[in-house]
Amino acid sequence: MTMLRLILGDQLNPEHSWFSGCDSNVVYVLMEVRQETDYVLHHAQKILAIFAAMRDFARHLTASGHRVHYLAIDDPANRQSLPVNLDKLIAGYHATVFEYQAPDEWRLDSQLANYLGQLGIPGRMVDSEHFYTRRDEAASFFDDRGQWLMEHFYRQMRSRHGVLMTASGKPLGGQWNFDQDNRKPWPGLPREPADIRCEHDHSALWECIQQAGIASFGEPSAARFRWPLNRAEALQQLDHFIDEGLPHFGDFQDALTYRAWRLFHSLLSFALNTKMLNPREVVGRAEEACRAGAAPLPAAEGFIRQIIGWREYVRGVYWARMPAFATQNWFGHQRPLPSWFWTGETRMRCVAHAIGQSLEHAYAHHIQRLMIIGNFALLAGLDPKAVHLWYLGVYIDAFEWVELPNTLGMSQFADGGRLATKPYVSSAAYIDRMSDYCKGCEYDRKARVGEQACPFNALYWDFFSRHGERLSANPRLGMVYRQLAGMSPADLLAVRERADAVRAGLDAL
Ligand code: FAD
Ligand code: SF4
Repeated sequence: MTMLRLILGDQLNPEHSWFSGCDSNVVYVLMEVRQETDYVLHHAQKILAIFAAMRDFARHLTASGHRVHYLAIDDPANRQSLPVNLDKLIAGYHATVFEYQAPDEWRLDSQLANYLGQLGIPGRMVDSEHFYTRRDEAASFFDDRGQWLMEHFYRQMRSRHGVLMTASGKPLGGQWNFDQDNRKPWPGLPREPADIRCEHDHSALWECIQQAGIASFGEPSAARFRWPLNRAEALQQLDHFIDEGLPHFGDFQDALTYRAWRLFHSLLSFALNTKMLNPREVVGRAEEACRAGAAPLPAAEGFIRQIIGWREYVRGVYWARMPAFATQNWFGHQRPLPSWFWTGETRMRCVAHAIGQSLEHAYAHHIQRLMIIGNFALLAGLDPKAVHLWYLGVYIDAFEWVELPNTLGMSQFADGGRLATKPYVSSAAYIDRMSDYCKGCEYDRKARVGEQACPFNALYWDFFSRHGERLSANPRLGMVYRQLAGMSPADLLAVRERADAVRAGLDAL
């Protein structure tokens, strides 16, 4: 009997029970396929990182005594599609059983489920052994509640898994959430921790990717590649974050600055999403540091909330709402992306920095994604599907199960507010408070109208004015609508005219 086991590019977990023993009847298959490089236009570093990490994983499995069949992108036997390659391999190895781990993306899940359905040999899907929750767990938790509040989900996760809890079952420190302490701008100190990530030379792999004709965008940085390739490198990054980043994570979680691109963020999302790291060990290390007094409770709580809260929650939302989720567009926004999404060349200093570093590093931290790029996209009325595809392509950690709910739901409010309680938008006032972007910007952060006025300002007021019918009853927006009601018709008209001009000339901003 020969069993074929498929490992997808985001399933690089050497601790999976599949690998607890070696069996010469089992062949592990990894494949680099155009099907996966071409479903969206990817950042060059994302393609490099996944291929390089898959190759490293295959070497690790072989060295540990497992049988591995690796189909490289330029292998003449590679048919560039999962099912076609699988058919050939199953026939070639005379396999009698086929197994795969649960995919995280709806697209692959349905493809493999269909494949299994028509396969002539027994096959099954097994757990990826990565997440805290099952795919359908958030849906059963919220049941038929209209709005799915992350905070409710998060609290039950803390209790259920005993994370940051006292012996008597109360939240450590007497409160669940320390968000109010976590909203400071960064004054320049403490210094951003050193970037200790390993450097790899992937020039040869990059050459091979180019030879294969795979389209991409962004800076490849192939000769000095910094994303972790395996669990050992990811663990090294985790150690460094716990010692140097976590103590300040809470304070500067929402900060924005042109002087630093990482601040105190962990840069662990690629390692987590490819399953090199398990969320339990990351959460465990943060809690341990907190209990040992090495990190303040608000910092550890803020960080842990992102993982057992947001990360598990958005996954539950994704599985509950796919496939219809991907096409939602509550505001009916249709505008295409301005050209500077692909170059970073805009005079809006905040946007230029956030997009510029995304193109350079395939990374932007959460507040850049949400309150700079996403904020602008929503205010300007960009097509949420185009925004989603850009986010899915550009970020090193972008896999649809986590990217789509964050982009369409949280950032673009395209689901009409089932995920976010109000649209995450702001004028320049918020950006100026949280960053040092505005002081050196060509635009005037205080002005609403006129050619030099910050585009965020007119777009912000015009957004709420245009969508009054849909948003004015939202209790969290009472203040905004009271301010709008206080504006004179002449002021409102001037704002509308400036917003129209901004939207008409997006490429030139
Ligand atoms: P840190 O700030 O150090 O946070 C620690 C970890 O918490 C992250 O590694 C991540 O695993 C988790 N996390 C934090 N926030 C979220 C969140 N909102 N949802 C899920 N997990 C979270 N995250 C992705 O992993 N992939 C994506 O494609 C992605 N797309 C996003 C798109 C938009 C529009 C927005 C607003 C957010 C998106 N996020 C995405 C969430 C978040 O921005 C990234 O997880 C984070 O920036 C990754 O950097 P980090 O590892 O330094 O995170
Ligand atoms: Fe961004 Fe406006 Fe500030 Fe310029 S003034 S950095 S465009 S918010």
